Amino acid sequence: MDRISGHTGLLALIGSPVGHSGSPAMYNYSFEKLGLDYVYVAFDVKEDKVPDAIQAMKTFNMRGCNVTMPDKIAACKCMDELSPAAKIIGAVNTIVNDNGKLTGHITDGEGFNNNLRDHGVEVKGKKISIAGGGGAATAIQVQMALDGAREISIFNVKDAFFDRVVEMAEKIRNAVPECVVNVFDLADTAKMTEEILSSDIFVNATIVGMKPNFEDQSVVKDLSAFHKDLVVADTVYNPAETKLLKDAKAAGCKTVNGKGMLLWQGVSAFKLYTGQDMPVEEVKELFFKD
Ligand code: NAD
Repeated sequence: MDRISGHTGLLALIGSPVGHSGSPAMYNYSFEKLGLDYVYVAFDVKEDKVPDAIQAMKTFNMRGCNVTMPDKIAACKCMDELSPAAKIIGAVNTIVNDNGKLTGHITDGEGFNNNLRDHGVEVKGKKISIAGGGGAATAIQVQMALDGAREISIFNVKDAFFDRVVEMAEKIRNAVPECVVNVFDLADTAKMTEEILSSDIFVNATIVGMKPNFEDQSVVKDLSAFHKDLVVADTVYNPAETKLLKDAKAAGCKTVNGKGMLLWQGVSAFKLYTGQDMPVEEVKELFFKD
């Protein structure tokens, strides 16, 4: 790396684990391609060390950090300012350091919606049904409301996440009163079918469909819910084509896999750090090919 000098700015991913992350490759390629004097590394930071890591960001005058699980909520508590979505959610995945003032953003939902847009799908004015109430689901639900969705029906199993879903629905209604938000039990298959039949977009933001434990499963049990005008999107990116997407494709729906969400949340963060557009097409080709 002969491009690193005494002036090179530092960015990093913090979280635990981080060793598997594709972010350093994606950002370093983009910095080099655009001639930006930054370098991006990954630090394994456990949740209890987040305040120390954020203090170190200031000490080293790092330009920014991406934050992954399990550090997103703890990092949010250390910010000087928050984006509208981060304020509602109470979690951050992107921190921008402007000479010691830290602003926390959450670009997961924006990334999800921009990936839909990249596939020709707009959220504004649409009805969305979505399964899930964890980190990914919440970020998507909030951003969909902020981006003008007409109605959001959320389905979650009655586990530890359910109360959080009910609370988040109320927060979204307060922040965006024109968006109708409903919460249902994922076990209520008849209700799910009814809601999907009147939706434009269906999203899976649960772990169902993921390798290795859930690969042969889908949250949509009644395949008659799939109609020809429905777009079906998954947040699960391993495998790229989940059982949900296979079923939906077979029923004639347009499908969008989870890999693009990873790319586009990074594109949003890159813009916040540098003010420039990531070379998306090259990055897609190099790091996100199906
Ligand atoms: P999380 O642990 O915060 O939430 C898990 C969700 O799955 C909850 O809603 C929970 O109720 C639900 N769930 C768990 N077991 C279930 C079961 N047996 N049946 C039905 N629902 C069940 O996780 P998260 O961080 O929100 O991640 C959720 C998914 O989103 C994962 O598949 C993850 O890979 C994906 N994700 C993708 C991206 C991306 O960029 N594509 C980013 C973040 C997360």
